[in-house]
Amino acid sequence: MLRTGKEHLERLRDGRVVYIGKERVDDVTTHPAFRHAAATAARIYDMKADPANRETMAFEEDGESYSAYYILAKSRDDLRQRSRTHRKIAEATHGFFGRSPDHVASFVTGMCTKREFLDTEGGKFSDNLRGYYEHMRQNDIYAAYAVLPPQAARDPAFYQQQNLPVPTLQLVREEDDGVVISGMKMLATGAVIADEIWIGNVIPLAPDQTKQAITCAIPCNAPGLSLWSRKPMEVNARTEFDSPLSWKLDETDAMVMCEEVKVPWERVFCLDDPTQSSRIYTQTPSHCYGNHQSNVRFHTKLRLFVGLASKITQSTGANKIPAVAETLGRLAAMEAGLSGMIAGQIEAAEEWPEGHVTFNRRMMYAALNWCTESHSGIIDIVRELCGGGIFQMPADVSVMHDDELRRQFENYWQTPQMDALARMKLFRLAWDLVGSEFAGRHQQYEKFYAGASFIIRGHSFRETPWDELEAIVDDLMAAYDVPAAEGA
Ligand SMILES: Cc1cc2nc3c(=O)[nH]c(=O)nc-3n(C[C@H](O)[C@H](O)[C@H](O)COP(=O)(O)OP(=O)(O)OC[C@H]3O[C@@H](n4cnc5c(N)ncnc54)[C@H](O)[C@@H]3O)c2cc1C
Repeated sequence: MLRTGKEHLERLRDGRVVYIGKERVDDVTTHPAFRHAAATAARIYDMKADPANRETMAFEEDGESYSAYYILAKSRDDLRQRSRTHRKIAEATHGFFGRSPDHVASFVTGMCTKREFLDTEGGKFSDNLRGYYEHMRQNDIYAAYAVLPPQAARDPAFYQQQNLPVPTLQLVREEDDGVVISGMKMLATGAVIADEIWIGNVIPLAPDQTKQAITCAIPCNAPGLSLWSRKPMEVNARTEFDSPLSWKLDETDAMVMCEEVKVPWERVFCLDDPTQSSRIYTQTPSHCYGNHQSNVRFHTKLRLFVGLASKITQSTGANKIPAVAETLGRLAAMEAGLSGMIAGQIEAAEEWPEGHVTFNRRMMYAALNWCTESHSGIIDIVRELCGGGIFQMPADVSVMHDDELRRQFENYWQTPQMDALARMKLFRLAWDLVGSEFAGRHQQYEKFYAGASFIIRGHSFRETPWDELEAIVDDLMAAYDVPAAEGA
């Protein structure tokens, strides 16, 4: 089924508990902190449901249409369709919704291509995963995830000394019809405007953390669940003109707090097995499917960066200066390089798991590493190109509503290359991209959304065929030996 935007907004009015500080939010679709982000998610659904986009963004099975990010890829063409769909969704938010509806859905779909991996001596969870996948695609579910313990949980002794439970989310007990969980999990981006939350552990647990190994899915309105929002940025955007990105693209981040939340057995995917709880992402195509989406999203954002950098330099006339053109050339090379890294993941796709194909894992991790390492540097380049132009603009666009101020503004702020209002519009966008609180959140997001950089490099290390690379060295050295002694 393909959900419409209106249907999505209706689903969000489900009694979920969301806090902004001590304020409890009644309806996330109308609250000034979240309404535009919710509407953005709704627009993604409308775009997907639009018959004009069906060929790219949907696939058919047994006469029913489903979102294309539920394709269990069996060919490069399937991967291409997945990738094109990610691209269209990313373009709808210019890459600022990291956890758009296709992100966690891709994690689940990738895992489903090798779902037998979830079956262990501790439990047969592959049927649960298949059931959840069917549920997601049938109802066009928007899931967020919280797959990290909170930083507060790193010193269990501190809590034990005070007779307090360690704050991280864990299994409290098993019951006939499911399990009960309590505790906190970080950091569910998008959960405020999504339907469900996948709970798990993407980073390995210690062997004794069996109760924390619980992996499951819960609806955002589950009794006992509350979402604690970080400071929302949409409320600070007074007009779209002045804060065009914060206005409608703050996808939200929230801590997930569970107190005695009941999870039916069919939504449990891992239990009491710390090793298994993180391996289900990397030993199946889950992590690869999900982070291919991240690569495509970042590339979409990078295209905006490069286009903006070029227009900024045009607005000041700096584009005529060879050194500035060189800087633009460097940015453009970065953009083209990432484009190649994404295309390569499909061209060099892996025939894995059996009967399926997956984006090339090493190239996906290389792109992920590159994006994580490069984002701050790219921002800095664009900041330098902006100069002080951003702060030469009036405080806000209301200046246009006063005839005399408007006359002065239009006369004095124009440049030979651009009229005053167009410059102001451009620099407002630039600031929301590189300097506003929204931009700052994105800088943090791009550093951490897939784990700290040493974690990402760890994935790259794991997937590298070291034998193959070391054999090159061995072969080279095998071609020569200790030379005969001189004069011998
Ligand atoms: C905006 C944003 C959105 C997010 N969205 C989500 C989400 O949707 N779902 C989700 O589950 N999580 C999400 N996260 C959480 C994210 O996965 C974590 O922030 C990330 O895994 C890093 O964990 P941490 O914040 O606890 O940092 P830490 O692990 O404390 O690391 C902080 C820094 O400490 C140093 N450090 C710590 N340990 C080591 C080590 N062993 N070796 C070397 N250096 C080390 C590094 O410099 C590292 O950068 C989000 C985070 C942000 C910032």
